[in-house]
Amino acid sequence: MVKTYLPHTWQEALFIRGNDDTMLLAGGTDLMVKYHGAPGITGNFPKPLLFLNQISSLKTINIETDSITIGSNVTLNEAAGISALPLILKQALGEMASPAIRNAGTLIGNICNASPAGDTLPPLYVLDAQLTIESLNGTRQIALADFIQGPGKIDLKANEIVRCLTIPRRNNTICFYKKVGMRKAAAISKLSFAAIAQKTDQKITYMGVALGAVGPTIIRSKEAENLLTGKIEILTDTWETMHTIYNSLLCPIDDKRSSAIYRKTIALNLLAYFYKEYIWQ
Ligand SMILES: Cc1cc2nc3c(=O)[nH]c(=O)nc-3n(C[C@H](O)[C@H](O)[C@H](O)COP(=O)(O)OP(=O)(O)OC[C@H]3O[C@@H](n4cnc5c(N)ncnc54)[C@H](O)[C@@H]3O)c2cc1C
Repeated sequence: MVKTYLPHTWQEALFIRGNDDTMLLAGGTDLMVKYHGAPGITGNFPKPLLFLNQISSLKTINIETDSITIGSNVTLNEAAGISALPLILKQALGEMASPAIRNAGTLIGNICNASPAGDTLPPLYVLDAQLTIESLNGTRQIALADFIQGPGKIDLKANEIVRCLTIPRRNNTICFYKKVGMRKAAAISKLSFAAIAQKTDQKITYMGVALGAVGPTIIRSKEAENLLTGKIEILTDTWETMHTIYNSLLCPIDDKRSSAIYRKTIALNLLAYFYKEYIWQ
């Protein structure tokens, strides 16, 4: 037997969360796999489940001039359908899982699962996404890069729930996304690469590069990005410095999907390709 809660309002959910030690379940596409029992047997959930999927206020999508806010019940498919969504995130969503999983799984579930191979994470890192977290005690905002602390580890207290995600809107003139998997669809990434940049009059005014599944969390280096920001001409030794930075940061593992050496080699090749084809022209 699993104890379950099925609140219909946000206040009810916060109250339950504040008064029992629960596990949050949105689409369940990660949790049902992780805790499944034998066929026909209830899953081995370690805590009472708090279902979020009946709370209609969490379905909200708000498009403002300078940001997009996405509620925690918005599915991967619904997010992909937001016309103003940055292209880099749209591309990642389009290559994720399968239509059935994208109809059930949520964007915020993908974030909170905190897998280094979570496909929405590299795009959301370069977009500087922020989360809004609530409890009965109040609300706080946190940058996604600070929220994710390690594989499956997030900065969330037992009484808190992520309410929504906010993505700043920028005019990214350059956008490059690549997922490397076993096949085109329904495959978890061996590694992934997301990069955006703004170039005005040949000058790079914003730059973001993030790599997935090549470390315990998404790898992003502000130090390397700053080497290019504000520059018009990119010198060979700048590229060499950047290569050295990423080479020391990337620390993938061997697992059933790929080898560490393959992941690192392809990640560095994608980085070189991005700079050569999009930046260093
Ligand atoms: C066949 C299959 C293929 C898949 N393919 C891919 C793929 O290609 N790429 C990929 O990245 N993933 C893939 N996944 C994983 C999964 O579908 C995604 O991670 C999905 O976005 C998870 O969302 P969910 O709503 O189902 O999360 P759930 O399973 O409900 O929850 C996931 C985690 O997030 C927490 N959580 C959920 N909502 C909140 C909230 N509001 N506040 C705080 N914590 C919360 C839960 O407690 C849990 O720890 C696949 C899964 C399956 C089964």
